[in-house]
Amino acid sequence: MTMADVPLDQLKSDIVEVGRRLYERGFVASNDGNITIRFAEDRLLTTPKSVSKGFMTPEMMVVVDLDGKKVSGTRDASSELKMHLEVYRQRADVKAVVHAHPALATGFAVAGIPLDRAVLAEVICTLGSIPIAEYATPSTQELPNAVRQYIKAHDGLLLANHGALTVGADVFSAYYKMETIEHFAKISLTARLLGGERLISQEEVLRLQSLRGLYGIASPAPICLDDDMTGSGGVVDATCQVVRSPDAPGSRLVPDPASGVAFGPRDRTAGADEEIRLTYRELAALIEDAVQKLR
Ligand SMILES: [Zn+2]
Repeated sequence: MTMADVPLDQLKSDIVEVGRRLYERGFVASNDGNITIRFAEDRLLTTPKSVSKGFMTPEMMVVVDLDGKKVSGTRDASSELKMHLEVYRQRADVKAVVHAHPALATGFAVAGIPLDRAVLAEVICTLGSIPIAEYATPSTQELPNAVRQYIKAHDGLLLANHGALTVGADVFSAYYKMETIEHFAKISLTARLLGGERLISQEEVLRLQSLRGLYGIASPAPICLDDDMTGSGGVVDATCQVVRSPDAPGSRLVPDPASGVAFGPRDRTAGADEEIRLTYRELAALIEDAVQKLR
């Protein structure tokens, strides 16, 4: 069934349901967030301005054209509509867009840390990586411009010091990607608190990428491996999904070389130039030992 076959009333109810889930999971506070569906070539359904996404009704939805001009509805369209319109202009395959401010993912967006490390197999298979679109004043033309750089190659983005954006072939698929991003952020934060991630190696990332075809996962762009682990710096118009993954032939999991975290003496041997930490007692024992040998 194509989107055009789904009755408009059903699509309005779907937006209400997705809004309720965003609110219930704490992905939005107050009147944050917005949801749109493209139901015809030049027609969008959008959530209204100034309403909690947890308490919407189908009658509140607004119909606009692809220039953002209101076609029907008693309320005003979402104030972030420009960002949604830009996504539909760039991506003919996208039929729905979800924007929210999930706390952990937004924390990464505020810290300026993209979710682009090869950490979870299902994220590599689906979203690939989640880059950060540069900071832009909400509701201005700056925001669509920032989003445009990345949206051709990604189904999920962080928006610097703002929130997250996901797209899909229908509104539930866009919503589930928002869940995946927040879950990924939660796991990444936990791993970092516990001493740092172990990363999936390039070899394994390529194996996971090949599974995309097998499972029929549609992805807007291929993964491009970045083994320098230092960051891609000012990407202009991303054409692939940069996943940070160490080149480690024969290994599938590798300690993150960027984190400088040791994983204990059994997992890792310190390199010649690496700093090691000893307690005063351990240091004194080593000196004592060396002195003994000199005698
Ligand atoms: Zn927002």
